[in-house]
Amino acid sequence: MSTIPKLRINACNDAPIRPERDFVVYWMTAQRRLSYNYALEHAVELAQTHQVPLVIFEPLRSEYPWASERLHQFVIDGMADKARRLADANVTYFPYLEREHDAGKGLLAALGERAVAVVTDEFPAFFLPRMTAAAAAQLDVRLEKVDSNGIVPLRAPGKAYKRAYDFRRWFQKHGREHLDTFPRRHPLVGKQLPQLDRLPAEITDRWPAATLDELADPAFVTTLPIDHDVQPVAAHPGGEEAARERFQTFLTERLEGYGNRRNYPEDDHTSRLSPYLHFGHISTHEIVGAVLEQERWGFDDLADNAKGKREGWWGLSEDAESFLEELITWREVSYNTCHYVENYDAWESLPDWAIATLEEHADDPREHVYTLDEFEKAQTHDELWNASQMQLVKDGRIHNYLRMLWGKKILHWSASPQEALAIMIELNNKYALDGRDPNSYSGIFWTLGRYDRPWGPEREIFGKVRYMTSKSTRRKYSVGRYIEKWVGKGY
Ligand SMILES: Cc1cc2nc3c(=O)[nH]c(=O)nc-3n(C[C@H](O)[C@H](O)[C@H](O)COP(=O)(O)OP(=O)(O)OC[C@H]3O[C@@H](n4cnc5c(N)ncnc54)[C@H](O)[C@@H]3O)c2cc1C
Repeated sequence: MSTIPKLRINACNDAPIRPERDFVVYWMTAQRRLSYNYALEHAVELAQTHQVPLVIFEPLRSEYPWASERLHQFVIDGMADKARRLADANVTYFPYLEREHDAGKGLLAALGERAVAVVTDEFPAFFLPRMTAAAAAQLDVRLEKVDSNGIVPLRAPGKAYKRAYDFRRWFQKHGREHLDTFPRRHPLVGKQLPQLDRLPAEITDRWPAATLDELADPAFVTTLPIDHDVQPVAAHPGGEEAARERFQTFLTERLEGYGNRRNYPEDDHTSRLSPYLHFGHISTHEIVGAVLEQERWGFDDLADNAKGKREGWWGLSEDAESFLEELITWREVSYNTCHYVENYDAWESLPDWAIATLEEHADDPREHVYTLDEFEKAQTHDELWNASQMQLVKDGRIHNYLRMLWGKKILHWSASPQEALAIMIELNNKYALDGRDPNSYSGIFWTLGRYDRPWGPEREIFGKVRYMTSKSTRRKYSVGRYIEKWVGKGY
């Protein structure tokens, strides 16, 4: 019997399941992993029920917004990983990359014509919800989306939470039930499934799968029709194996001290897991399960009453609680917003007080105003800001504390708050490996007041929106080596 919570599985169309057809397709679009993955688990269960083979179809288009060598290579690393692991497995793995724009058009429909059912990932942001809805209308077979995004099923809270405190309070009341049900660690292992000799030739002749040799070749990405200026970052290889290795290092070397040290830019004591979480190369269930196990935690440790306080509810060490606060409260309130707030990426989705105060101060005189191009090239007067922008460009990430400062200063030095928003979205999503995620929008909109409250004193440009300065950051944290590293001018 299935143990997948029903709330996590949703039909996208009214088309029937077609048991007379050849195989079940798992159309892997967001949770690009083989473990702790409810969508894969559901696809396996369907294939078992109908006694047909399973095809794991993992495509990558060339024309999605900000498609670049950096983002593509990360996904390709993960594909190579899967191609190796599934070489002798009981399923057919079909990695597909568009070698020309639109070359993949019609492929899902062609697979769908042979499919008993199609299962896909539910992801609440970027172009994925639109793509899934379009596919649902096109397929003549049942398309089901499965939510493997986090500990809390997207539909469980039933509404959008506007403050992290309220979401945390909800979680403290209801979290127990969601912590009790985990996806299977290895949904494929031990499963008897009929095997497919090969995919139909009329499909593979027109849409050939990427071979393992291609996927493992670093030059392959250079042949694809994508942005070649945003380069891969060798320090952050993609894939489940790399994700797990990074997580193990964090668990054994960095979780201790996380609470105090996570804000120090030069310490870099955080997990650096966000790109892997974004591309679904690791699951929050795996991370949370391992942290709880290391802490020898049990349900009896939970506090009896839910007050929404940041510390104390879990009954864990301070470091572990601090880490889960980021991974569950902040990450999942972001997913909650994207799921329930349709225009989550638009200016109008900010709280009324933030829109009012920012608009009231929109015409305030600005000592510095930079264009997108100047920001992108790190040509501001402020070395610390330039260093964080250069880290983003070269390393595909910015340390969390400096990322807040990075956003606040774009607000400070843009011609208008709406332009600041557009610049943040463009730069974050173009360069950050973890960009285009619900967290991207929550981080960016947080700099403009989302999840926050009005702060005094009221200031120029910011109005009542929380203010940050490079000067106070420099007072709090040592950043000389950080600046030296990214802009090489010393401090
Ligand atoms: C302007 C701005 C833009 C941002 N853009 C992104 C983005 O594109 N993608 C992204 O994943 N995060 C974004 N964040 C949130 C945060 O900066 C990153 O999640 C974090 O720095 C990732 O580093 P880490 O994996 O080492 O985090 P850790 O501290 O190790 O935390 C573990 C995980 O918790 C989650 N998390 C941590 N901090 C936050 C946070 N503030 N909000 C939501 N989730 C959090 C992430 O999934 C992270 O991987 C942004 C923040 C700001 C202020």
